Amino acid sequence: MLPIRIVAIPTEIAEQVRETLRAPVYGFPAHAELAPEPAPCRHCLRLTTAGKDRQILFTYNRFAGMESLPQPGPVYIHAENCPRYPENGSFPEELRGSPRTLEAYARGRRLLDQKYVSNGKFEPVIEKLFARPDVDYLQVNSTTAGCFTFRIERASEPQRR
Ligand SMILES: [Zn+2]
Repeated sequence: MLPIRIVAIPTEIAEQVRETLRAPVYGFPAHAELAPEPAPCRHCLRLTTAGKDRQILFTYNRFAGMESLPQPGPVYIHAENCPRYPENGSFPEELRGSPRTLEAYARGRRLLDQKYVSNGKFEPVIEKLFARPDVDYLQVNSTTAGCFTFRIERASEPQRR
């Protein structure tokens, strides 16, 4: 497996949303609730616990920091502080059990390929997509809900934020 970087949403964004209960950039009201069912927190990349964790739903540009063209969509984070998922970690284990779509992008938001993974075996697909030299980064989305979950970059390339 080639070294990859798992890029969850920045901690500054999570803190700002928790503090203001508004979407960054857009200012739309965010919605805090007791989790009715488990949802992936885009900051710690763990699932919220239904009936126990409070979560915040807000609008987030999935291309923030990467592209000039935005694409806002709904995402969840824990309402309480949580540790950001380590960038040098491997594929988040708690998210392995649900169907995810891997989208391979070239800079300029050009979608080059997408793969649907529902068997939890993400690594071979990640490796295959990154084997294309024109692929710059991957976005991981929920296949069933369509929402952005996190980004994957090659660890060999410098961070671009
Ligand atoms: Zn979290």
